[in-house]
Amino acid sequence: MMKCREVSTLVSTGDVETAPLGRRMRVWLHIAMCRHCRRFRRQLEQLRQRARAAADEAAAAMPADLPERVLRQLPRE
Ligand SMILES: [Zn+2]
Repeated sequence: MMKCREVSTLVSTGDVETAPLGRRMRVWLHIAMCRHCRRFRRQLEQLRQRARAAADEAAAAMPADLPERVLRQLPRE
């Protein structure tokens, strides 16, 4: 069985998505059997959702011409 540290690293970096099938299966098997990693994964997902919502909110509040205004402030090359 994989160690919690290994599983949490793979899950938090997102590397689990691109890991070879056998490795991914071992991660999911570990998560199925380990409540600590299940909780960690759930909390991470909630954190990602909140970060996404905050970014969407910030984007919605940003004036439409802001990128253009920022670009105008940059020194010319
Ligand atoms: Zn674990």
